[in-house]
Amino acid sequence: MGKGTNRKSNRKIPYEEQTSSKPRRWDHIFGILTVATIIWFGLIIYNDFKSLDADTPTNNTQNQTLDNVVAAQDKGLAIPENTWTIDNGSVICIDAGHGGSDKGTVSGRYEESSICLSIAESVQQELERMGAEVVMTRTSDIAISQEQRVKIGNDKNADVFVSIHLNSSTNEAANGAEAWIHSNKPNNSLKLSKTILEEIAINTGIHNRDVKYGTLADSKENYYINSRSKSASLILELGFITSNSDMLIINNKAENIAKAIASGIGKYLNGGNKGESEKY
Ligand SMILES: [Zn+2]
Repeated sequence: MGKGTNRKSNRKIPYEEQTSSKPRRWDHIFGILTVATIIWFGLIIYNDFKSLDADTPTNNTQNQTLDNVVAAQDKGLAIPENTWTIDNGSVICIDAGHGGSDKGTVSGRYEESSICLSIAESVQQELERMGAEVVMTRTSDIAISQEQRVKIGNDKNADVFVSIHLNSSTNEAANGAEAWIHSNKPNNSLKLSKTILEEIAINTGIHNRDVKYGTLADSKENYYINSRSKSASLILELGFITSNSDMLIINNKAENIAKAIASGIGKYLNGGNKGESEKY
């Protein structure tokens, strides 16, 4: 293009630079992309491990122990075949402890009031399947007083009143199911409680802590339900919300627990205990 193209040739310099430097730039870009990709994959893998970790509530050693507990408890603990029927017109009052703003004991992700309600509803279904008339003190997450609970059972002339709770302790090793009855050691409540606890122990592997009298603070005092209920009654502590092994059973064997409670009640009522009110 001759001299007139001086400016053009000047303009070409960048073009030359561009073309000659092109392979180097692509190298850079490729290098940066590779590094970025490696970092990106690295982050994904790291986050995956992190979320796995967050989903695991306990460390591996604890999981191992709990797995062993489950394996041991699973031996021979199929869902019990409950063959009892309750066709003698018996009325059973099932009371899910706490409710509403009263959550009972809260331990980690566990809430006593909601676990009790869920098990109480399963017990109701099983008892109704057996032919019983069931009255529930609550069927939703509502607050209800001790007076109201007892009144619901007494108004229906219930033959049995079972209040469902979970125990708690600062000692994580404390475990097992227990029942609290009136301090005067009423025969029917004792019989009913022993039958239910035996059924629970046999069908779930939960340790049987047996029947206790009065209150935790004073064996001569009484929980309101036990002091005012006209029927055989008990406060049933299914297990400890603070115990890993108990909660594992309560979570995994909820159906066993519900059927065990219902079959214990069935066994008690079929033993000729209908309508016998407690005399303190
Ligand atoms: Zn409770």
